[in-house]
Amino acid sequence: MEKIFFGGTIRTMDTSNPVVEAVLVEDDKIVAVGSYEDMVAQAGSDVELVDLEGNAMLPGLFEPHAHFDLASFMHKGNFIGGLVYDNADEVVAKMKEAAEKTPKGKWLFLFGLDYLINRDLPELDRHWLDENVSTEHPIMVCVQSMHTSIVNTLALETMGIDRNTPDARDGRIYHDEDGEPNGILTEQTLTYPFLLAWINDWKLNPAELMKEQFIEWKKKGITSTWTAGMQSMFPNQLALMNQWEQAAPLRQDYAIAFAPLESGAASLDDCPEDNPMFKFTGIKFWYDGSPYTGNMFMYDNYLENEIMQDRLKIPAHQAGERLFDQEYFYNMFKKYHDMGFQISVHSQGDRSSHELLDIMERVITESPRTDHRHRIEHCAFMTQEDIQRCADLGITLSYHVGHLFYYGEALNELVIGEDRMNSMFMRCRDALDKGIKISLHSDDPMYFADPLMLVATACSRTSRKGNRMTTDQAITVDEAMRAVTIDAAWQQKRENEVGSIEVGKYADFTILSEDPYEVEDPYNIKDIDVVTTYLAGIDTDTMY
Ligand SMILES: [Zn+2]
Repeated sequence: MEKIFFGGTIRTMDTSNPVVEAVLVEDDKIVAVGSYEDMVAQAGSDVELVDLEGNAMLPGLFEPHAHFDLASFMHKGNFIGGLVYDNADEVVAKMKEAAEKTPKGKWLFLFGLDYLINRDLPELDRHWLDENVSTEHPIMVCVQSMHTSIVNTLALETMGIDRNTPDARDGRIYHDEDGEPNGILTEQTLTYPFLLAWINDWKLNPAELMKEQFIEWKKKGITSTWTAGMQSMFPNQLALMNQWEQAAPLRQDYAIAFAPLESGAASLDDCPEDNPMFKFTGIKFWYDGSPYTGNMFMYDNYLENEIMQDRLKIPAHQAGERLFDQEYFYNMFKKYHDMGFQISVHSQGDRSSHELLDIMERVITESPRTDHRHRIEHCAFMTQEDIQRCADLGITLSYHVGHLFYYGEALNELVIGEDRMNSMFMRCRDALDKGIKISLHSDDPMYFADPLMLVATACSRTSRKGNRMTTDQAITVDEAMRAVTIDAAWQQKRENEVGSIEVGKYADFTILSEDPYEVEDPYNIKDIDVVTTYLAGIDTDTMY
């Protein structure tokens, strides 16, 4: 089956041929690009003509660091966070509305509570939930960073947590003055069973959830993603991948988190054979945590204020921490580097990235490898000297610019302060100037996957509230579009298959109502509508 795409601006992301008039597709691949006349001349007589009607066509967009599996569950919860709602009244109204819509006795999962953005929120505990939301459902409220949850009295009773329940290795049960749990719990060991109770109560079906999630991502123009570390959301997750393929017409590459590999909970033998829809890319590590939970690893302390200490439970005089002993981390990194894998490491803080680069430098010097494409993920704070080291070592960077869009003000005023923001925050411009390929990601479910929002943010350095900051690090529209297409594909070692509109590649396209290169203020690129996407030559509107 042949198709000719024509009738709108077609941006290829191929530097030798950046704009073409028409593209000829045969089955799932691009077979020719050029003028409309040439395409017609090459095509058979029953070719289908796809008129773009003035819309713009680009290579299918990437979400180059997310957690599609986890996102599909979390977004099934009722979102109540500051990424969407502007004040406490709106948040509380949303919580009440969710309780009213939920059948009595059923678990209610509320996701995204945000003390940093909705600073007028009171501190929630079980008493507050009982009084203001409901005593008729077990309720779990998960804060945006996912490290703290607040549950109501019925949820505590249902899960059998009382004054005698001990803290976990990684988390804490907070108590009222009389010694009863007050409903505030931190970290996975304590909060995960609540999440599972909700999943089981609603009999949530992974394939169905993924289909719903795919539809949300499709609206944002995404045709490819990279799952940054398969962990343990479902038992035997890798075996489920075939179901995903049917549920979600999306190219899904993935790294495997190193911890389940080391513990034996996951095995590389379980990976399905690489195919055009799924590709195993390597191993994912974490060096530090999140800026909003106090475990991003910095040289200097976090700011101190009521929200950081009282609401977010971050102790004063703290600069975060590394998650692993350095020598252990070196051994693990070296092991997987020597096995020939691409390694990606979560690193947000300046000290985290500095120490990590010491380890990477040591390993790469001891065992040089060409084209390893090791990645650092998020890169919230990194000095210019360390960015230069990345360039020297061939490390590629994926920037979490949603931090600027959603939390720019909070980072400035409550978490980090302006000096460190101005000297080290999300230095995309520096990275590109030093010759490093970068990508832009949402880390969904951390933020909602939305590549055009990331492009708008990286180009305009403007927050959701409209404040411009660290503008010296702005990049061009072309650089930002490359960071969500061809350069993201390169990071996933897919650059010969997707990421640009070139002969021989898969016909993955995103059709936009407007050409991002023609938008006067790049901040407005986030408002461009996605008309549809094509995956391997097929309009995804026709796929579900
Ligand atoms: Zn992530």
